[in-house]
Amino acid sequence: MTCKDAIAVLADFLEEALSPEAVRELEAHLRDCAPCRAYLNTYRKTRGLVARAGHAEMPAELKRAFVSSCSTSSRSRSAERGRSPERLCPLRRAA
Ligand SMILES: [Zn+2]
Repeated sequence: MTCKDAIAVLADFLEEALSPEAVRELEAHLRDCAPCRAYLNTYRKTRGLVARAGHAEMPAELKRAFVSSCSTSSRSRSAERGRSPERLCPLRRAA
């Protein structure tokens, strides 16, 4: 198994969706490969963060405001090149 193979199956490994043979292969690779172990740790942590963020759901109202606040300014930004983003973003201007 190469590092590329290992990284390709890491997600399934964490979901416990790998076959026992694949798990053995991956574990054998991880034993010999410090970079992949480090990657696995980072991956685990990141997944944890994403899961926690998913629980703290952004209120729908706030989400709508967030999505709409800068969409108009980014569209006009190329036309008004040279102006500061504060001028173009209505929310930032209000704050
Ligand atoms: Zn590796």
